[in-house]
Amino acid sequence: MGKKIVVALFDTKPYDREYFEAANTRYGYDLRFLAPRLNAETVRLAERALAVCIFVHDVVDRPVVEELHHSGVRIVALRCAGYNNVDLIAAKGRLRIVRVPAYSPASVAEHTVALILSLNRKTHRAYYRVRDANFALQGLMGFELHGKTAGIVGTGRIGRIVARILCGFGMSVLAYDPAPDPEAARAIGFDYVPLPELYRRSDIISLHCPLTPETRHMIRAETIARMKDGVMIINTGRGKLIKTVDLIRGLKSRKIGAAGLDVYEEEEAYFFEDFSAGGIEDDVLARLTTFPNVLVTAHQAFFTHEALRAIAETTMENLWRFFESDQLSYEICAPPPD
Ligand code: NAD
Repeated sequence: MGKKIVVALFDTKPYDREYFEAANTRYGYDLRFLAPRLNAETVRLAERALAVCIFVHDVVDRPVVEELHHSGVRIVALRCAGYNNVDLIAAKGRLRIVRVPAYSPASVAEHTVALILSLNRKTHRAYYRVRDANFALQGLMGFELHGKTAGIVGTGRIGRIVARILCGFGMSVLAYDPAPDPEAARAIGFDYVPLPELYRRSDIISLHCPLTPETRHMIRAETIARMKDGVMIINTGRGKLIKTVDLIRGLKSRKIGAAGLDVYEEEEAYFFEDFSAGGIEDDVLARLTTFPNVLVTAHQAFFTHEALRAIAETTMENLWRFFESDQLSYEICAPPPD
């Protein structure tokens, strides 16, 4: 069954190989693990493949679609939820596109809370102090989450779990979503409010909405000015939700008390790779990492055993449905909404 089907997996790391090889024991496809990202220069590596598997920083633009189609590739399986890196209009009629719409939202929600707790109780700084035999507490003071107000922007799969965890800490949780879920609000115990009110009342603001023209740079000078002094901003959504230079200004003026960022506007150039020997040229990212009250993680919120297993299993099943059963699930055939 499907033994000769070649699947070219781009931008893969050793951990991808581990989880995809385990998932493939049920299918027996010929998996080719490739280190380079897919783009117009690397597309030829998909030669002889009938399927291509890609991640968030691979690019399937029109020239790549044409080359893949020309070389006989029939399906592109995204091993992620977002698909802003695929030209769906170019792909129409040439390539089928599938994705993994939801994989362990608890993984992202728990990482969000890890950022909040670390920034508040400064465990990221305490770790280095104690290793250096510095047992002083000066500068490490936090505040109780209990009784404070959190603002959740986007109450989808991830935002709802964050809301539930923060309610568990005894926080008052406010939320904004253009498609509210009153049932979830009642069951979890949070209140929907208009976005300006959320900005005005929240001690911690956490972003869990998609990147759209409307949400791009929603956190910028003008919206930061409306927030509480000392607000903590957490972003595990998408980097471009925040205008980073404005965030830095807010941090310098101490309007913003702390920022936890798992995503960054220009992350494609750096995240998932090791630049420790050569340093980085992005002065904005470099400045961010100098603040003691900023915690940047490199898009790792999804990175758990459970999520990687779910991603590999759903991707393999997506391919199996296409090649063996002709019943595609999780297919993306319409361009994303504006
Ligand atoms: P989801 O689709 O379940 O929920 C998104 C929610 O945002 C929806 O309820 C939607 O109505 C709401 N929304 C849409 N436009 C909005 C707006 N203008 N303002 C406020 N809310 C708005 O998605 P999810 O699975 O909860 O994921 C949320 C985001 O997390 C995704 O967009 C993705 O970019 C990001 N994500 C990050 C990682 C990571 O590793 N850091 C992993 C997975 C997802």
